Amino acid sequence: MTSFNFSTWPPQLTPEQLEALTLAATTYALSHGLLYLPPSQSPSNTQPRIPTTAIHAPLSLIPAPFPRAQFQAARELQSVYNVLYARVAMDTQFLDTVMGAEEGVGKADEFTGTLWKGWKKIREHGVLAQPLHLGLFRSDYLLHAAEDRLALKQVEFNTISSSFGPLSERAAAMHRNILASTSYFSASPHLTADNFPENSTTSGLVEGLSKAHEAYGVQDARILFVVQPNERNVFDQQWLEYELLEKHQIHVVRQTLADLAVSASLDPSTHALILTSPTNSSPYEISTIYFRATYTPSDFPSPSYYDTRFLLERSRAIKCPSLPLQLAGGKKVQEALTRPGVLERFLSNEGAKWGARALDLTAHAADIRATWMGMWALDSEDVDIVAALDHLPDSGQAQGSVPPGTRLARLKAPSLVLKPQREGGGNNVYREAIPAFLDALPAEEREAWVAMEMIETPRGVSGYLVRASPSSSGTDNGSIEKKVVCVEVISELGIFGYALFGEGEVVEREVGWLVRTKGTESNEGGVAAGFSVLDSVVLV
Ligand code: ADP
Ligand code: MG
Repeated sequence: MTSFNFSTWPPQLTPEQLEALTLAATTYALSHGLLYLPPSQSPSNTQPRIPTTAIHAPLSLIPAPFPRAQFQAARELQSVYNVLYARVAMDTQFLDTVMGAEEGVGKADEFTGTLWKGWKKIREHGVLAQPLHLGLFRSDYLLHAAEDRLALKQVEFNTISSSFGPLSERAAAMHRNILASTSYFSASPHLTADNFPENSTTSGLVEGLSKAHEAYGVQDARILFVVQPNERNVFDQQWLEYELLEKHQIHVVRQTLADLAVSASLDPSTHALILTSPTNSSPYEISTIYFRATYTPSDFPSPSYYDTRFLLERSRAIKCPSLPLQLAGGKKVQEALTRPGVLERFLSNEGAKWGARALDLTAHAADIRATWMGMWALDSEDVDIVAALDHLPDSGQAQGSVPPGTRLARLKAPSLVLKPQREGGGNNVYREAIPAFLDALPAEEREAWVAMEMIETPRGVSGYLVRASPSSSGTDNGSIEKKVVCVEVISELGIFGYALFGEGEVVEREVGWLVRTKGTESNEGGVAAGFSVLDSVVLV
């Protein structure tokens, strides 16, 4: 148990020291590819394909304090999480019940329903061209300050497009470099090299991709990155691409779904995914498809985009993730796992082979559960939800046909967040906004939402955040302004892992970590106020 006093952070710095750290951090970032493309100021269809400028990613000057024990615990749990989500993805019946468009959340959420229907059609009418799935995962956590102790609590588990691995590695390296060059002006006894853990996420994620490529078994096949048009976080993806080529001699092709509508086809007999290329006379065979797109409805501007996604799913290439693995990452699955006995069933020690080593999964079920906050569905009529309602005052008031899950969410609103089946941020409803939101929510959409207890992070911890942004007076080629603020913050830890799995077999590993820090709102919601930055940890 750490005795660290979070409200003493960050250490005091003079304006001159702050200026020197800002110069060191931004120069390091620009020198080491810790970069974003600047926000586009032209309409998307006229954006040049070849970038002319880049800006450093938003950064924290001093790493965020994080208790050593909880940091280690999060890393150690990742293998159990890797296996858990592999098993969820392999459990068709469970996914049909929870995410499907006939029995599950796919009824109320059109995007989820469309993906599920596409998957169902493929498994009913198609051949199983590829039994293996690849997941590059990121499990996200916040510290929960409850009853005088700090507990590690999971925000969400990402199974698609888990980003910022390479950039977080570089953010950690930047902090180590600043420590070596300035000792942070001896501003805090915590700022020592022993407290700055290593981060080698890039090679770990690439190990997962290269293992899938090897398992596919065609040496000169390529890995396909499916990307969004106008992606700003391209350098994070590029670092994976460079490492695949330089360390593993594996070539990458980057295409959008729109590109693939033209370039992609399946070999009629082998179902190999074949891409024609404008720069190469002979087409490429694809071993592995890494999706950095297709997680949000706006990635599918018309129904034909879904056709392209489903063509990729039918192929013999290994999908990262497959449709079932993407569905396994739904907020609704996260909620379903919290119900009594569900996790324990998935973590049985029976019937599975392991890659390098045996994991006693059953023994870890309680540790996994201990990382969860309470969750329930707005349409829930479960006995425990009814029982919780009975314990609250005011719960007897006339609510007509409003289900217990919604009534409980209204009564406990100040300590809750509501989440729909979406990824990528900006979709949740927090605390005081919940009652009015529930008033306006059509009854048939309730099922699409889950309620989650808010994780109450340590208060009073601040950070120095730096961002480059186009100046307000700027034009397309305009100047970049730098903005440094010291604000109260929340830091979110993410642990990366991969799993390559099929029927009865999982090869997996924990591969690294990230910290993102954001300013708190005055209403203390988890919503990013101002901006969110890449950070690292100082273990305390
Ligand atoms: P998304 O898939 O859109 O990233 P998340 O579940 O990660 O959705 O929620 C987005 C952000 O909201 C998180 O990064 C976190 O800051 C905040 N948040 C989500 N759930 C909670 C929670 N239970 N307690 C506190 N903050 C939360
Ligand atoms: Mg998230």
